[in-house]
Amino acid sequence: MANKRDASCIFCKIIDGEIPSYTIYEDENIKAFLDISQATPGHTLIVPKTHVKDIFEYDPELASKTFAKIPLIAQAIKASNPNIIGMNIVNNNGSIAYQSVFHSHFHLIPRYSENDDFKMIFGDNTDSYSKEQLVAIQTKIKSELES
Ligand code: 5GP
Ligand code: ZN
Repeated sequence: MANKRDASCIFCKIIDGEIPSYTIYEDENIKAFLDISQATPGHTLIVPKTHVKDIFEYDPELASKTFAKIPLIAQAIKASNPNIIGMNIVNNNGSIAYQSVFHSHFHLIPRYSENDDFKMIFGDNTDSYSKEQLVAIQTKIKSELES
């Protein structure tokens, strides 16, 4: 299927070369380029070449084409600098989840130290959930996958 574009989308413009980017990899399905903000050196975005807003718009074919390349690019980034000791891979969906460009993308953020310029904070609500509450959540999500 042909890649679809959105004329007003900044990442579609980058895909088409209308806006320049520091591209590190591309094939017929995806493009990977340096994030302008460089949260840490080597911070890279991977985008599918077809315009989908977020994770909720992927079909299995687009998912397999896009996700399959994430390890390859992650490994190349890591190999490019011996000071990289870890990597966060982040995908924001919706403004509430800090998405600001509404063309789906994956951030690959190399990690250098505890004090590099990246932070992620997860709450820990382990003690707030009963077994029954967890089973109720599990059952609802499972039934969506089985329907
Ligand atoms: P989000 O907040 O949607 O998860 O991430 C969007 C990312 O796109 C941000 O990290 C931002 O720095 C990056 N970005 C926005 N505009 C441009 C641009 O024109 N070029 C590049 N390379 N990155 C951009
Ligand atoms: Zn787009």
